[in-house]
Amino acid sequence: MTDTMEKIGLIIFSIFFLIDLNAQKNETVTLTSEQLKQIKAKATELYQALDRVTPGEGSAPPSDAFVLFDGSSLDPWQKPFFEYSGSMAEYAEWLPALKRGPYNTRPADWQLEKGEMVAVPGAGHLVTKELFGDVQFHIEWLAPENTTKKGQDYSNSGIFFMGLYEVQILNSFDNETYSNGQAGAIYKQHTPLVNTTKPPGNWQRYDIIFSTPKFSEKGDLLSSARMTVFHNGVLIQNNVSLLGPTCYIGQAHYIKHPEELPILLQDHGNPVRFRNIWARKL
Ligand code: MG
Repeated sequence: MTDTMEKIGLIIFSIFFLIDLNAQKNETVTLTSEQLKQIKAKATELYQALDRVTPGEGSAPPSDAFVLFDGSSLDPWQKPFFEYSGSMAEYAEWLPALKRGPYNTRPADWQLEKGEMVAVPGAGHLVTKELFGDVQFHIEWLAPENTTKKGQDYSNSGIFFMGLYEVQILNSFDNETYSNGQAGAIYKQHTPLVNTTKPPGNWQRYDIIFSTPKFSEKGDLLSSARMTVFHNGVLIQNNVSLLGPTCYIGQAHYIKHPEELPILLQDHGNPVRFRNIWARKL
């Protein structure tokens, strides 16, 4: 009996040793049905202690979220020390020299009105004081009704992860523009899968997963930035790979930058409104 048990033990050990060895070589092992029969269910069960997160009730953030705006204060935000330029040539001028934060600048100067954060046309962008790398991000935004505006001028704003990689905010309800620049576009890189924009005057939400690009010590790109975006609960960007920082003009390419940077909200000359902004570091 003991002999048989030892043999079974040895077979199971050999199988897992083989699987592990081949996993390291990136090869798949096909086990015989006889070998598969030797594996107990328990052998593939993991017991790992997980952090507990309490989900938010209603629109409240989950317990481990970093709250960026809850209606009470603009304090988590400040003026950027770097401006989104939209030009790859300008990125190339300042990005290589950018040192790791924190970056302390001047207080945020957008409006706080009825518990909402309102972009002030001409005031410039805002950035978070907190720095983020990989992140799950939630934001609610409202494009005010305006019959005189159209195209890219109708409630344009945007969320720039790391101050560099934009998910477009725009009124895209009955408002024609280029499809890779409409609401939910990874600006000029990925058109959203569908248009699920509500009419102006309605609150809308984005839930975004952003993964930073990874660079080698000497600055070679190891993996691209990626984004998944839900607009009003509908998947509109499915783990897409970015070509580099957002460019208004020209072709994007990667330039090495710090692993954590602020999240930027764009002033594009329109009084877009925001509420309930939070982020979970991943
Ligand atoms: Mg924009």
